[in-house]
Formats: sequence, C-alpha cells, structure tokens
Amino acid sequence: MSERLVYLDNAATTPLDPRVREAMDPLHGTLAGNPSSLHRAGRAARAAVEGARKQVADLLGAKPDEVIFTASGTEANNLALVGVMAPEGIPLGHLITSRIEHPSVLEVCRSLERRGASVTYLPVDANGLVEPADLASALRPDTRLVSVMAANNVVGTVQPITDLCRIAHGAGALFHTDAVQAIGKIPLHAGDMGMDLLSMSAHKLNGPQGVGALFIRSGVPLAPLIHGGGQEKGLRSATENVAGIAGFGAAAEIAKRERAKESARLVTLRERLLEELGRHIPNLYLIGDRYRRLPGHLCLGLAGREGEAIKLMLDLDERGIAVSSGSACSAHHRSEPSHVLSAMGFDPITARGSLRVTLGRFTSEEDIDLLLQALPEVAASVHS
Ligand code: PLP
Repeated sequence: MSERLVYLDNAATTPLDPRVREAMDPLHGTLAGNPSSLHRAGRAARAAVEGARKQVADLLGAKPDEVIFTASGTEANNLALVGVMAPEGIPLGHLITSRIEHPSVLEVCRSLERRGASVTYLPVDANGLVEPADLASALRPDTRLVSVMAANNVVGTVQPITDLCRIAHGAGALFHTDAVQAIGKIPLHAGDMGMDLLSMSAHKLNGPQGVGALFIRSGVPLAPLIHGGGQEKGLRSATENVAGIAGFGAAAEIAKRERAKESARLVTLRERLLEELGRHIPNLYLIGDRYRRLPGHLCLGLAGREGEAIKLMLDLDERGIAVSSGSACSAHHRSEPSHVLSAMGFDPITARGSLRVTLGRFTSEEDIDLLLQALPEVAASVHS
C-alpha cells in the first residue's frame, strides 16, 4: 500500500484545516473556562463562543442571535423537526419532507409518525430533484413544516430550495433545510432565501467533528430537545464545546472568504475527472443532475455485476485512495440499497453499488492524476 493517502471522501468528513486547528489550540489548554462563569477565564470562553457565533452567522447572512450551537448536524436536524412539530401540549400536525433526506431527518420523521404526526415524503425525479409542483400539491392547511435538504450527501444534487421555501410560506408552513453538505460550498444566504431553519455541521467544511449549528430565524417558535442549565437561549442546554465552536467559527470564516474561488477550482477538477473517467471506463455513468450539483461531488454508477463498486472501492483503498461506495452514513446498512438511489428509480443492484468521489479543499491535481492512473486498471481487474 502506498504511503500517500489520496482522500476523495470529503462528503463523509473533511480534513481539519490547519488554520482552524490554530484557532482551536489555545482553547484546549488548562485555562479554558466555562462560558457561563463570570470570572476572567469564563469571559474568555464566552468571547470565543460569541465570536464564532458571529462568524457562522456571517457565512449565512444571518444575525448572530439566530444561530444555536449543537453537537452535530444530526442534532440540529432533530432539534429543528422535533422542536417545531412536537412542542409539549400541542397536537402533532403535518410535516412534508423528501424521500432522499439524510437519516437524521428521515428517522426523526418516522419517530414523529409513531407519535401521531402525519408525514408526506415527496418523490424525486431521475436526477434526484424535488419538483416544486409536488410540494405545492402536498401542502395542507395543517402543514406545520416543510424540510428539504439543500444538497444531497449521496448524489450531490442541489435542490431548488428558494422555490420550495416560497411555496411552503405561501401555505403558511415553516421551511427547514438540512444544509450540512451545502454550506460553504454553494451560496446560501438565509436572509435573502427566506428559510426559517437551517442545519449545519462543522466537519463538512474543514472544521472539527462533533459540532453543529442550527439557524433559527428570529421569531420562529421552537421547543428544546435538551433541558438543563439554559445555555443557547434555553434551546440547547449543556456546557458549550468551546474549542469545537471556535473551530467552527474559523472554518465558517475561511469558507466565506474562499468559497467562490475554491468552488470554481473544484468544478474544474471534477469536470476533468469526469471527462477522463468516461474515456477510460466505458461502463461508467454519472448519477444525479449533471449541473445542479455540489462543486466537488461525483456519484458514479457502473453498469455491471452486483458488488463491483464495493470491490472497486476496496481495491482503491489498498492503493491508498479513499473513495466511498454509497454514503458513510449507510455503512451500518451496507447490504441495503441506498434509499436515495432507489427513490431516483435505480434498480437494487445499482442502488447498492454506486461509487462516490468527493473532492475538497486539499484535493490537488496530483490526487486526480493518481485516481485516474489507478482506476482503469482497478476497474479492469474488478470487471474480469
Ligand atoms: N445531513 C447530511 C446531508 C449529512 O451528509 C450528514 C452527515 O453525513 C448529516 C446531516 C449529519 O451530520 P453530523 O455528522 O454532523 O451528525
């Protein structure tokens, strides 16, 4: 196995940017205070948290007091859905989502259904896009929330969330988007786009793992999931993960500053990779919308036998190249077809066997060259 790791699984998680680590390091020391303490160490910790809140809000075009820190994107999604749909003492209403959401939305929907909520799962087309007209016809007078992800983690398709948000608001419903994959990669301005709630996660934008955030537009009513000391305006009690939050802030600031240039670079790398792969591996095809996709995201199908994509992924791993077959989040359900690809109309064999190649900030031309050198040979051996 080669020493050099070619990491092309940035949709699963991203390497920590050294500039982010630099922002976090001082807060890992013995002097890290509790942000709720009034002494000097506490005030320093509070300043770090509030500085980061502003940096994350700036990335979104939001106000700092519209951002609540959580321990993950998963928790932000849970808080958004349960917090709107199931406050104590209020009957559960109707929720609309899509069939291709991340499990941290879909499993919450199933739990809410078991508790008596009514949930509509919108279909997607063959490119993985929700049709706004389908949302318009699914809305009901008792629809309280519409939740559609900004970009999909398996196929990378970017949803028309501005249109979906406008349609939801037209029927008096709130709009939430899971922007965990999209934030920092495509322009997302909460102020202009109008969404009420938006989930984020630091580790998808070269920040630390285990820290997320929820944007909650001022005035949107939300009940907490975690009760305790009343931190985060009572919406997320617990002593804050100060170093993690500071890292998230630094990651957000870097993403805001570098997004446009970096996205253009990734699109160029992605297009070169796609073109050359198509030339070398004839049975390979792109899954998901050709253009409405995240800059560094490719989901590839391989017309062939069952299990080929997983074998390909493992053979590439042997050569020090990390790509993903399906999504990391479905690693616990490996033998099941991807619910995303099934919803897009793919047969169970394809739905079990896609290859996901996701580029990121530290992906170089040389990484792409190494994949291009390795893949035809690996594909031929898998195919034979
Ligand atoms: N939503 C999407 C679209 C994701 O891709 C992920 C993680 O892969 C999550 C939510 C969960 O985020 P976290 O890993 O921070 O819990």
